[in-house]
Amino acid sequence: MPDTSPSPSVDQPQPLDAIIIGAGFSGLYQLHCLRDRLGLSVQVLEMAEGVGGTWYWNRYPGARCDSESQSYQYYFSKDLLENWAWSERFPQQPEIVEYMNFVADRLDLKRNVRFGIRVTSAHYDEAANQWTVETDAGDRYTAQFLITGVGCLSSANVPDIPGLDSFAGNWYHTGLFPHEGVDFSEKRVGLVGTGSTGIQSTPEIAKTAKHLTVFQRTANYSIPAHNTMLTDEFKRYCKEHHADIREVMHTSPNGHPFRIQERLALDSSEEERAVLYEKAWAKGGLEFRSVFEDLLVNKAANDTAADFIRSKIRSIVKNPDTAALLSNIDHPFATKRPPVDDHYFEAYNRDNVTLVDVRAAPIQHITPTGIVTEDGEYDLDIIVFATGFDAMTGTLLKLDIHGRDGLPLKEAWSAGPRTYLGLQVAGFPNLFTITGPGSPSVLCNMPVAIEQHVEWITDCIAHMHAQGLDKVEAKVEAADQWVLDVNAAAEATLLPQAGHSWYLGANVPGKPRVFMPYAGGMASYRKICDDVAERGYEGFTFSGQTVSAS
Ligand code: NAP
Repeated sequence: MPDTSPSPSVDQPQPLDAIIIGAGFSGLYQLHCLRDRLGLSVQVLEMAEGVGGTWYWNRYPGARCDSESQSYQYYFSKDLLENWAWSERFPQQPEIVEYMNFVADRLDLKRNVRFGIRVTSAHYDEAANQWTVETDAGDRYTAQFLITGVGCLSSANVPDIPGLDSFAGNWYHTGLFPHEGVDFSEKRVGLVGTGSTGIQSTPEIAKTAKHLTVFQRTANYSIPAHNTMLTDEFKRYCKEHHADIREVMHTSPNGHPFRIQERLALDSSEEERAVLYEKAWAKGGLEFRSVFEDLLVNKAANDTAADFIRSKIRSIVKNPDTAALLSNIDHPFATKRPPVDDHYFEAYNRDNVTLVDVRAAPIQHITPTGIVTEDGEYDLDIIVFATGFDAMTGTLLKLDIHGRDGLPLKEAWSAGPRTYLGLQVAGFPNLFTITGPGSPSVLCNMPVAIEQHVEWITDCIAHMHAQGLDKVEAKVEAADQWVLDVNAAAEATLLPQAGHSWYLGANVPGKPRVFMPYAGGMASYRKICDDVAERGYEGFTFSGQTVSAS
């Protein structure tokens, strides 16, 4: 039976079965599973004033999902699948938030979410086997389980550039963009960053700004989205083929609704490769990566894709100096998350867009009137930082989580995140981290990764109830081995070759350089998790007693 008790308030705190932090894709589904499937008392705590997680905050111009829309939704519910239809191939941010509200309302989830409240700390009390969570509203919640659904990219990374405080105009980070939008008309805008976000924002800001100056430190590959409105025929196809689409997503390494082609790049002739790449470029989207199966494991194979994209950039961008800067890319294709764009390179053919190379002439400081690089000052009215996130660990560490004997998570992870399966941390009983570091997470289509984690956690808690167990914790040796497995999976690919990528934490000064997501593929990871459960939750300890040896 669903729990219908009201949320505890400052005056009436009451112990809960579970506290979930975050009301995005992860938190909402976890709430549904625990409350409606297991009948637990659950409270979700959410900093935003609404559901949506990352999509609530990332409202920058051009914000759009780059997973194909038919795959960017929950698949656990036939009712949800049948009663929702996306309008575009790659949905825009407002439509995704609308979807999240549709889900939350249809499953009556909001009554167990407290919005506008920030978790300031979480402490585990061994004697009581209880988590106590404190919030910025000054109240406390207690629960047996603590589950984080805080997303992997939710802690904005604003670079520490001297003089930023003195800037007389407005500045924004794309991950915390004003809800009312920003009027760029008649404004000289500086955009710092050319990751997925900067690449999505550039053409949109250019449409209305008086002038847009893009500050590029690292040139990036990008594949055209070729976004389009979905036809009724395609919508019908999706509704009639849910099971088939899900099957592809669940059996592919990255959770997307297309298969990786079983062929090697160098087995094809140059002409054959050109035809295949042209076809994939014309189709657009992340599927470009699936033309050959060895693009992420063989540098020579990767070079063929990289060279193709560089030649595309040079053919699109008319100014040869700008084209040279944009195509001077220093890492293999797809070793940083490949952006998907809507006329990004074309934007540099506009008279009102300038590219500045801040690799050659780094940003020095900011003045009241603009950004100063080694080459001089660029006068600006607005600065937009598309400078990314303290990814995967940033938000978790900000929660100030303390495990057994008061051990701070920050200390446990001082040399980088250490988890077992990305699900649990040794020394932190009954804490689960949805899409935590050490799981495929950001290397996968997120809703697929989230559903798998939420369902595994739900099954684990159901197992505990069935067995009369009240505590689950990853074993130290299991976590140690998993860290080795995560490193080995990354080393088997070209991914670590992008030395400055956020996958490695390299974008945040002082952050340990550890490859954080599990690169062994979602389908293999799912099997590993299933096998662990099947073998009596191998590598976990329950209620202080070992259920099975690892
Ligand atoms: P990002 O990939 O980390 O890119 C940040 C950019 O800012 C990089 O170009 C970086 O340069 C630059 N930068 C950072 N600090 C700088 C500084 N001090 N001076 C100059 N340049 C600086 O961040 P993002 O673009 O926000 O994307 C993060 C992730 O979010 C993506 O990879 C993707 O997974 C996700 N995302 C998804 C979507 C979608 O689904 N549609 C859209 C946007 C983002 P360096 O490379 O030199 O460090």
